[in-house]
Amino acid sequence: MQSILNLSHAGLVAWCEGKQIPKYRAKQIMTEIFSSRHFDFDEMTTLPKDLRAKLAEDFTISSIVHAEDLTDIDGATKFLFEMQNNDHNRVDGKKIECVLIPQRNSDNVTLCVSSQEGCKLDCKFCATGKLGWKSNLTTGEILSQYLISEELSGKKISNIVFMGMGDPLDNYENVVRALTILLKEQKIFGKNRITLSTAGFPDRIRELADSGLNVKLALSLHSTTQAKRENIMPSAKNWRLPELVRALEYYYTKTRQVITFEYILFDGFNDSDDDIKALRKLCSHFPAKINLIKFHDIEFTGYQSLLKPTTSEHFFKFATELRKFGLDVFTRVSAGEGVAAACGQLALKQNKKSNSND
Ligand code: SF4
Repeated sequence: MQSILNLSHAGLVAWCEGKQIPKYRAKQIMTEIFSSRHFDFDEMTTLPKDLRAKLAEDFTISSIVHAEDLTDIDGATKFLFEMQNNDHNRVDGKKIECVLIPQRNSDNVTLCVSSQEGCKLDCKFCATGKLGWKSNLTTGEILSQYLISEELSGKKISNIVFMGMGDPLDNYENVVRALTILLKEQKIFGKNRITLSTAGFPDRIRELADSGLNVKLALSLHSTTQAKRENIMPSAKNWRLPELVRALEYYYTKTRQVITFEYILFDGFNDSDDDIKALRKLCSHFPAKINLIKFHDIEFTGYQSLLKPTTSEHFFKFATELRKFGLDVFTRVSAGEGVAAACGQLALKQNKKSNSND
């Protein structure tokens, strides 16, 4: 049995027609879920009883189950969800995570969601890369993270970033359907409230630009040279930097969204004056901003000899130097470090725990 959240409005209309149910019911059903927040068909009392019974025969609502959560002193909460084996042939008990991050000095709350169970791209600084790829999340599994996190926390989520486990452009169809439901069908978020972060996929960047969704886009850059990128992001060998820059330029031209470059600073690797000059040059192609991220030394990379965090002093100096060139720079010292908020860390810990219990 599949989650009803996998269906777009058109999909639900088709289901209604197949059951000789008036099509207007499709909208009512989704309103029951997204506005009234009813997660049991029996609670949807605006719908006729026989329709509720038919829905319960064919669908579940969520296909993920809350397993654990941890809250850090800075207010970030990481939710771990277990996947149910009702959408496709998948082993039970696989886990995904998302992180709820209250913004400092504002009422905004950002949810960082996962788009895949694990990831194929194997970035050397990332715990999810270490997990390997297990599957693409369905649209329902993506939307469930949002609905359940709001329910569990009692907080209204104002922004969503696809920066959790996986690369959203590597699960393009399901992610775009989730975005279409959130932005166009349910109109819960505006385009400026959702950000997709990718490591590459220039063809899909262009496709997304043409989709009309116009969400914000971030590129996990981490180095301005092809060789260094390939060193820490093996998938980068599939996409030459100039090709990526052209795709980002196209994205900006079509959507008018400022592009974000994510840049984790590693000591002696990508934090020199030459790197500052190269970043400046890169940002001259289109309106862009840089998200400088502090790297936290982690035991899981197996890459410790290469990847060391830049000192705090140098981290902020690097940001100041970039700003001197007029660049828009944000610094992030990773919210929720105490709850292993960097993507994949909690799932990796849980995996290790279950392996050692086997
Ligand atoms: S950083 Fe993102 S793209 Fe790279 S391995 Fe981790 S989840 Fe995948």
